[in-house]
Amino acid sequence: MFAGYEEKFDWQSHAGFANDSYDKSGMAVDRLNVAQRSAAMSKIARKNTRPELVVRRAAHALGLRFRLHRRDLPGTPDLVFPRLRKALFVHGCFWHRHEGCRLAYNPRSNREFWEAKFARNVARDARVLTELREAGWDAEVIWECETRQPDMLPSKLKALIGGRA
Ligand SMILES: [Zn+2]
Repeated sequence: MFAGYEEKFDWQSHAGFANDSYDKSGMAVDRLNVAQRSAAMSKIARKNTRPELVVRRAAHALGLRFRLHRRDLPGTPDLVFPRLRKALFVHGCFWHRHEGCRLAYNPRSNREFWEAKFARNVARDARVLTELREAGWDAEVIWECETRQPDMLPSKLKALIGGRA
């Protein structure tokens, strides 16, 4: 059903990471140009990604009712189940640093840049979850890698969202 997924979302090669090379000291040289980096960066804020669409489809198939990307809530959750006061984020494993996940690897080059970027993302995610909880919302996360197991997704969603929305 999602043949071609890997190709379509292989943003690393699109972003130029495949062109990493090494200078005389053996340090990895980051060949990302500004446009490429900003294209890569923009993915974190991108909406309607393939993993999101997979989750929406699964939620819909379960008969769950939800709203999308409510900007009035902290972090603009990807799916919102208003009656249950549940907010659901579909997180990319790389950008949001899914712990222990093979998709959340560390780029070899430009290490400081990436570490700072990742630290900001993780801090923002934690802040958003706290703000949502303080506002009376349950916040849940479905990881990108979980959306690659379509058979598991419905039970995962049911477990996270609970009763019928
Ligand atoms: Zn993952």
